Order: sequence, then C-alpha cells, then structure tokens
Amino acid sequence: MDSLPVALPTRTKVKVTAMPGDGIGPEVMKATQTVLAAAGAQVEWEEALAGAEAFRRGISTGAPQETLDSIARNGVALKGPLETPVGHGEKSANVALRKTFEMYGNVRPVRELPGIRTPFSGRGIDFVVVRENVEDVYAGIEHMQTPGVAQCLKIITEVGCERIVRLAAAVAEAEGRKKVTVATKANIMKLTEGMLKRVGEAVLKDHPSLAHEHMIVDNCAHQMVIRPEQFDVTVMTNMNGDILSDLAAGLVGGLGVAPSANLGDEAAMFEAVHGSAPQIAGKGIANPTALLLSALMMLRHIGDFATARRIEHALYVTLEEGRDLTGDIARDGEGVPTAQYVDRIIANLGRE
Ligand code: NAD
Repeated sequence: MDSLPVALPTRTKVKVTAMPGDGIGPEVMKATQTVLAAAGAQVEWEEALAGAEAFRRGISTGAPQETLDSIARNGVALKGPLETPVGHGEKSANVALRKTFEMYGNVRPVRELPGIRTPFSGRGIDFVVVRENVEDVYAGIEHMQTPGVAQCLKIITEVGCERIVRLAAAVAEAEGRKKVTVATKANIMKLTEGMLKRVGEAVLKDHPSLAHEHMIVDNCAHQMVIRPEQFDVTVMTNMNGDILSDLAAGLVGGLGVAPSANLGDEAAMFEAVHGSAPQIAGKGIANPTALLLSALMMLRHIGDFATARRIEHALYVTLEEGRDLTGDIARDGEGVPTAQYVDRIIANLGRE
C-alpha cells in the first residue's frame, strides 16, 4: 500500500555513526545508505574515520578520538571493512573498536537466502553463531619467548563466558528459537575452553525453554557441513567463532551476503563479515548485500522493524528474480555494477 489515509507522525531521526572504511567499504556503505534513504529509514548519519587513513595519520589504534566520541554519543554504528596494515606493529582497528566499547558479543546470522544457489540450497539452514568478541587469543598478548619460540596467551574469564552465553540465550528467546549449542575444545583446553562449557551448562539451566547441548568444536565444524540444519544458536570462544562463522557464511552464499552485529552494553556496531576485498575495490562491482543485511539488523536494533522488513522483502524479491545481481552471486556469472543492483532493490521496494 503506497498511500495511507492518515499522515503518520514524523519520527525523530536516530543518529548513527557511519564508518565507510577501506577498499570496497565506501562503495558498499554508499549502496546501503542509498537503499535505506529510498526506504525512508529515519537515520541521520554521522560520518567517521577509521582504518587505513587513520593509521596513515599516525593513529596507532586506527580509530581517531572523534570517531570514538561519535560512537560513544550515538551508541550505534554501521561500519565498512577496515584493512589491517601488515608488518608495522599496528593492531587491528576492528579489535580496537570492539574492545574500546566492550562489544563482547558478535552475532552472525546464517540463513539461506532466496535465489542464492549453493550445494546446500533447500536444506533450510537458519542458525546464528554467537561469538565471544573480546577475549581468547585475540586479546593480543603475544611475544617471542626465545628466538624461534613464540607464545600467545589465551584469556578466558567467567564473566566473559557468562555474558556471552546469556546473550546467546537472549538471541534464542527473542527469535523464538529452541536450542543452544555450546561448541568448545574443552576436551583439550580444560581450563579455558572448559570454562565456557561449564559456565554454559550453568547459565542455560536458567533457561528451561531452551534445549542445550555441548559439542566439541571440531565435530561442530564437521556437523555444520554434514547436517547444518540441526543448528539453531551456537556459542563459541572468539577464535573458534571467527573460523566457524566464516565456514557457516560459505554454506549460504559466501562473504558477500554475511552480516553481523557487535553488541555490548553501551554500543552496538553492525558490519559485514567480509574484509576490504582490495582486488575488486574501486571497480564498482562489490556486493553490498552483507552490509545491507547488517544495516537491517541495525534498524531492528533501533526499533525500526517496519523499514527493515520492507527492505528485506525488496532484497529477497531481487535475489529471487535473479536479475541485476553482482558478479559473486549472479546465476549466469554475468554480474552488474553495484549501482545497478541497488537500483533494482529500490525498484522492488514498492512490491508487496
Ligand atoms: P576479504 O573478505 O576482503 O576477501 C575475501 C574474498 O571475498 C576476496 O576474493 C574478495 O574479493 C571476496 N569478497 C569479499 N567481500 C566481497 C563483496 N562484498 N563482494 C564481492 N566479493 C567479495 O578478505 P581478505 O582478502 O582476507 O582481507 C582483506 C583485508 O580486509 C585485510 O586487510 C583484512 O585484515 C581485512 N578484514 C577486515 C574485516 C573487518 O573489517 N571486519 C574482516 C575481514 C578482513
């Protein structure tokens, strides 16, 4: 329905920090903002710098203070991929942002999309990987012990385990899901990975409506390929979740269509799972779907369910029709420019 009998009250715009990022970041950010604007999303963007340019300016975290201030003020951010310069001792700007705002939960939905053919199509894959985002070997405590021997510390805390499992349970309950799988390497790392297993069992006892199970993480990788439809919500430590969520993205069409949310108590940052794809940057051919789906998670986070649903519908219609898709998902391999794909999604916004 295009026209409504009564005027809707004007909604106040929600300020969101937008970090276009590096490589294909600015292209997919522009595409996403164009679709959101066409759908009338009540978002006011506050553009902020992060990534390669910040490192070039000598900011060792890759995120200038103004950017951190903007995220702190708004509490919500949409971020393009940030390149990590190799070999200059810089830390990842992504890790810095996640840690500064203690965004401890990385939520990565894995859902079969209409029209995207994969060897797994038709299996009904629909699960969520909840990855711990600030602990584990990614805490970055690494050094050379003696020449030829390097050491990296794996930090896992009870507080970290408890909040990530609580988040997984909250995601499951909010989405009407039935089961939480805690996947760990507790059989080998009994104290660190074992802590997630133990705390997971205790926390999930408080959620009697959810079935819960423990799975050794290597078997979990195997099960995700053999029988991915068995999963509902999975929860893992940082590195296991990083690796298995990329595997999971591959089951449903790849990095071009994989969204994510970084959640903490004070801020939420939404981003595609993919990186800056330097090989295709600047060519206008990148697939913006992953960032667009991340923006839909963001719209739902700020309570704009109607606009999110409308864009999702237009996107699904576009994918189902299979016309004007970018090269990575085009059925005949003949991709169109990002802008043409965006035009097609916008044209489908009016279709119910
Ligand atoms: P990548 O995700 O950038 O690319 C992997 C492959 O997927 C490439 O073939 C690329 O062309 C393709 N691809 C990725 N996104 C695509 C899209 N939207 N449309 C079409 N094809 C797409 O991974 P990489 O090459 O390992 O990393 C490149 C840089 O990105 C590195 O500096 C890395 O540190 C950084 N990175 C950043 C993030 C992040 O900001 N969250 C995540 C991963 C990697």
